[in-house]
Amino acid sequence: MSAITPGMVCAHHHLYSSLARGMPGPLTTPTNFSEILRDIWWKLDAALDQEIIYWSAALGAAEALLSGTTSVIDHHESPFCIEGSLDVIADACEFVGVRHLLSYGITDRWSDNGALVQVSPSGSMTQAAKRGLEENKRYALTGRPAMVGVHAAFTCTDDTLEHAAALSEELGVGVHIHVAEAPEDANAGARLEEFARDNWLLVHAVHLDRYLPGVIAHNPRSNMNNSVGYARPSLRTNTIVLGTDGIGADMLEEFRLSFVRHRDDDRSATPDNSWKWLQNGNQFFPEALNDKVTWSYDHVDDPWKVAYTPGIRCVQVEMNGKKVVDNGLPVHFDIQEVRAKASEQAARLFERMS
Ligand SMILES: [Zn+2]
Repeated sequence: MSAITPGMVCAHHHLYSSLARGMPGPLTTPTNFSEILRDIWWKLDAALDQEIIYWSAALGAAEALLSGTTSVIDHHESPFCIEGSLDVIADACEFVGVRHLLSYGITDRWSDNGALVQVSPSGSMTQAAKRGLEENKRYALTGRPAMVGVHAAFTCTDDTLEHAAALSEELGVGVHIHVAEAPEDANAGARLEEFARDNWLLVHAVHLDRYLPGVIAHNPRSNMNNSVGYARPSLRTNTIVLGTDGIGADMLEEFRLSFVRHRDDDRSATPDNSWKWLQNGNQFFPEALNDKVTWSYDHVDDPWKVAYTPGIRCVQVEMNGKKVVDNGLPVHFDIQEVRAKASEQAARLFERMS
């Protein structure tokens, strides 16, 4: 019996989407995954500038910390504000005090004339993808923890995938990429097979038709929210980790959703698989094992009990021997101020999107 755990890890986040709640909805209701991307997320990411990115990341990081999540693997995209964007996110995470592993998701979906286009695998690499790749490289060479980000195979040419894989080899870091999230990207397995390595982070893998080396990030809430199907992570031989895909960073909640979705698919499922997936996140941040998170529930080390106890709150967080959350509030920054700044930037963002 214990009320204390190590620091939680969110293994796939989009801190840039923290301001998305309350944004203007699409003019028509999306009927498939491509329309969800085109009419919602690609409108949002195209409207980001550095100030919006900073406060969006600060809010997302603050909400992570207050949920006992001390480390975040982020996948960023801001196609009209590429250069320096990863430094802005790192600065925001460091202001809050959350560990970060960042990447810029390159894509060829924006043509050299700035138009959103359908990408043909045989096309050549766009200027935007080159600039995104350069941002990954520049940022990694600053020495902050980095991966090489790729949006997804279906929005990249083969040329771009090859360049991303080559940069990842050159830098000695993995590629962080969405893989077969929806039927639109179902041939990701075939296109990535020659490139994928054990240090890759493969996100979603819902419709992945073969084994690819790498760690798979399972995002149960996001998959349900986008109606893309169940990934059946327990049937994969890869190491599985849990992510939120940008919908907060409350990892105990993601664990509960992971379990109940598993149970929905398989009556005999136990919470042990999902608990293991949650703990596997620490492979990316071994330091978080030394963090002490105190919860509002004294059986937080028991997967069965946590699975059936919604609403467990993070009360206190200690990182590197120092208290950073006390009584559910941050010690080193003012959460109301972060919310106020984020709210100002949300208004600017919604204006730019309209
Ligand atoms: Zn994602």
